[in-house]
Amino acid sequence: MDNQQLKDPQNPSGPVTVRNLKIHVDRDLCIGAATCVAIAPKTFVLDSEAKAIILATVDQDPDNVIIDAAKGCPVAAIIIEDDKGQRIFPQ
Ligand code: SF4
Repeated sequence: MDNQQLKDPQNPSGPVTVRNLKIHVDRDLCIGAATCVAIAPKTFVLDSEAKAIILATVDQDPDNVIIDAAKGCPVAAIIIEDDKGQRIFPQ
């Protein structure tokens, strides 16, 4: 994975801000199931440790797709907040 393909190379798993969403993958929880990659392939990819990281192309996935990916994660490792810090998922 080329760092330039990441939304934030300093924080590959976030938090990153996309429009009004703050997205963060809890790397301790992530088990590399890749459900998120299947649902939101422009947002998530697995790194060499099989942990989800956030792509620069995240801006091309609509909010509902990113939220659906978080909902699809079997271990709820994807945490999404709004721009006021309110938790959107998991609730
Ligand atoms: S769906 Fe969840 S466990 Fe699977 S790779 Fe994505 S964040 Fe990790």
